[in-house]
Amino acid sequence: MSTVLEQPKTPASSSGASAKDFKFKTHPDWCPGCGDFSVLSAIQAALGELGLAPNKVAVVSGIGCSSNLPGFINCYGMHTLHGRSLPMATGLKLGNNDLTVIATGGDGDGYGIGGNHFVHTARRNLDLTYIVMDNQIYGLTTGQTSPTSVKGMKTKSTPYGNVENPINPIPLAITAGATYVARGYSAKPKHLVELIKGAILHKGFALVDVFSPCVTYNKDNTYQWFNGRVKPLEESGHDVTNFNAAMEKGYKWGDELPIGVFWKRTDLQTLQDQEPVLEGGPLATRPLGLSAEQKQALIKEMM
Ligand code: SF4
Repeated sequence: MSTVLEQPKTPASSSGASAKDFKFKTHPDWCPGCGDFSVLSAIQAALGELGLAPNKVAVVSGIGCSSNLPGFINCYGMHTLHGRSLPMATGLKLGNNDLTVIATGGDGDGYGIGGNHFVHTARRNLDLTYIVMDNQIYGLTTGQTSPTSVKGMKTKSTPYGNVENPINPIPLAITAGATYVARGYSAKPKHLVELIKGAILHKGFALVDVFSPCVTYNKDNTYQWFNGRVKPLEESGHDVTNFNAAMEKGYKWGDELPIGVFWKRTDLQTLQDQEPVLEGGPLATRPLGLSAEQKQALIKEMM
């Protein structure tokens, strides 16, 4: 598992990569049936279908079952601190804005421990893709209530039922300033691949929240529970540029759970497009040190 940036194996072909170029030698250690397998495959398929080379992609995660993902994909990867995938991804993108940067993690990591970073990364509209494997529970720590666990849910940490209201990441992302907000479902892999491709192609902060069942610890939000409820937004003719409709659909919960792109706007500049320091190209590829002219100007200023 990667804790620092690793050198990816680049594809042999110069004509572009495919999904198999993003397969890695380490196989996931997730429980059989975990929704995260499907999300990993969807990310690999999306990257392959977009023809991106592994050495042009970096995946950054926090801590949790799903946050082990960078260790299972062939591209640059960082497994960082709990809740800190987004600040790390921000630094990575600003340091090398030529890279496609994807942050991954779970609902506890992203909306709980990293909730502050989620809001501020969204408002900055940095060109990042954030994929949250939302299973409404803390899986790695063996089944405690998470920020998206519904009220009344019984877990190890709430044996009499959860008394807190859950976070709804869709309206939260929209109001915080995210410019592409979508939700997918692990059991609809083709649909999920399209959502992830859209997020990667989008210029700005893109959230893809994914219903990704934890088959071991969440006995409420199972595949069976989701299967009868998820409804693709495309089937209802949803207008992704309509703010009120996006919020209304985003708040839906219960017998109908919309999936698809809720909200998209392209009229806002990204953070890196407005950052004057980046006008000279990616920082990572610029020569280190000062030119003779810069040295002289500095000495003059200090004299
Ligand atoms: Fe997936 Fe849950 Fe197992 Fe973690 S504990 S790997 S989230 S099924």
